[in-house]
Amino acid sequence: MADSLQDFVLAYCEEVGGLIERPAYGLVDLLLPDEIARRLGTEPLVRLAFTEETAAAHPEATHLTYGHPLLEGVVEDMQGRGLALRRYVNQVRLERSGLFRLIKGELAFPNAWLQPLENAVEAPRTCYYVRFNFKVALITDEKQEELASILMNLHTGQPAWELEHQEILPLESEYRLRPMHEAPVAWRPELPLHSPERLVWLQEEAGRAVARKLAPTIEALQQRTARRLELDQARLEAFYDDTAADLERRLARTGDEARQASLKEKLAFVHAERERKLADVAAKYQLRINLELINTVLISQPKIALQARVENRYTSAQFTFVWDPLLYRVEPPLCQVCGQPAPRVYLCANGHLADEGCILHCAFCKRVFCALCKDDVGACAVCGKPLCVHSQIRCQVCGQVTCQEHIGQCHA
Ligand SMILES: [Zn+2]
Ligand SMILES: [Zn+2]
Ligand SMILES: [Zn+2]
Ligand SMILES: [Zn+2]
Ligand SMILES: [Zn+2]
Repeated sequence: MADSLQDFVLAYCEEVGGLIERPAYGLVDLLLPDEIARRLGTEPLVRLAFTEETAAAHPEATHLTYGHPLLEGVVEDMQGRGLALRRYVNQVRLERSGLFRLIKGELAFPNAWLQPLENAVEAPRTCYYVRFNFKVALITDEKQEELASILMNLHTGQPAWELEHQEILPLESEYRLRPMHEAPVAWRPELPLHSPERLVWLQEEAGRAVARKLAPTIEALQQRTARRLELDQARLEAFYDDTAADLERRLARTGDEARQASLKEKLAFVHAERERKLADVAAKYQLRINLELINTVLISQPKIALQARVENRYTSAQFTFVWDPLLYRVEPPLCQVCGQPAPRVYLCANGHLADEGCILHCAFCKRVFCALCKDDVGACAVCGKPLCVHSQIRCQVCGQVTCQEHIGQCHA
């Protein structure tokens, strides 16, 4: 797939401090630092075509495909840089006035409202991304190799798709800003921000993101595979069905008991063998994805944090919201149940934030509960509607709970 390969090469170019231009779709001009160009055995200015059509339209461009020596040079150079490269985003504005208004405008709280905190200030915080560069092998009965680069947010564990589609990340090899505090982790707080355990977890998440990124390639591979699997299965079934039919004919013809027993044994063997071979062939075509880590890059970027209060008539809680000065947007908070970014969030009656898919509504009051608090929501013994602890009426006779409407009907 051209996109994954192109992303991979652009990520490399960003990391080594090269310049990138895209004069046309599928066409990329790289200006590499002299030292890097020498190492790769190329001119500093290279024009690359990533699709066949582009290559045909631009014969002056190098058609970069898997197995091209330039690409192998890139992978080798990445490996030579060791696992953990450091890069910095310095070119961002560290002020964002009126952030409270922006948060209010960009996020939606269907059952609550946002309140400014007295003394809250807009504070720059260092945030981190980790870029994972992988060699990917897609294995069925054939093996297909891909390269994939995935940018992961170290605080949230989410792939930074929005940043990947940005023209280019302004990466530098020196930190040039004033010192500032780090932003805290936003998900999986038991894994400290700079711990090896967190990196292991993030790498697993990155692996899942690779599968998403390569989904079209994987789908095409699976379609080809499914076709061959069907043919193989049909061949096996025809062979064993013929053999079994033959044995059954002979069994019907013979009157000899010893011969009958021997034929029945053979028939059982043929049936077992048929199942075993079919399972084997299914396993052979089962897709496996092998990821080999080429290197990682730890990228820091300042963002601007502001604390604010989310409240409704039942509860209120304080949260930190983040402005991303590179993407010019307020980062959606994470649902505290599933950890997914949610630009539209509900305030749980116990003070959690949760997205639409992770909440329960009480059918009788206006309270909303998140799935972490599901023990606070029961059901009326008569009508079965969800009923929160504040709306439940416990029956003095049978001990069940009902809604207001069905008092006394639970034991009738
Ligand atoms: Zn959720
Ligand atoms: Zn209720
Ligand atoms: Zn909750
Ligand atoms: Zn009821
Ligand atoms: Zn009752």
